[in-house]
Amino acid sequence: MILVSSCLLGLSCRYDGKEKADERVINYLKDKAFMPICPEQMGGLTTPRPPAEIVSFQPLKICTEENDVTKAFVRGVDEVMKLVKLQNIEKAILKSKSPSCGTYEIYDGSFTRKLVKGSGIMAKRLMANDIKVINENDLD
Ligand code: SF4
Repeated sequence: MILVSSCLLGLSCRYDGKEKADERVINYLKDKAFMPICPEQMGGLTTPRPPAEIVSFQPLKICTEENDVTKAFVRGVDEVMKLVKLQNIEKAILKSKSPSCGTYEIYDGSFTRKLVKGSGIMAKRLMANDIKVINENDLD
């Protein structure tokens, strides 16, 4: 069973209310069992919602330009992990650059669109639980 970011399948769950359907992901999953998840929606955040960035990891702080949304982000990851425990999840294909799903790069917390090396909080949690995490570009 493969966990996949819902926005990559065309679900309109992104912060701007849009989707990010990716044909590479959709084709790859055609003959496989998969489970779509959006940790930000599962944490109780609305769609659309203000964009958020990870301001710090120690202690964890995730903010929009106006509010601290750390609790909702963590709640969403906790909810996803319940599904991971119920299913035999071996791998995840997650949307790049997201503060939840980003695998190799995330925005630096300054809201200036500057990317730094690092992973979103859900990607990190999955990796810590020995689940292989890739992003849509790894399917090239
Ligand atoms: S939290 Fe993940 S699944 Fe949800 S919109 Fe952001 S990148 Fe897509």
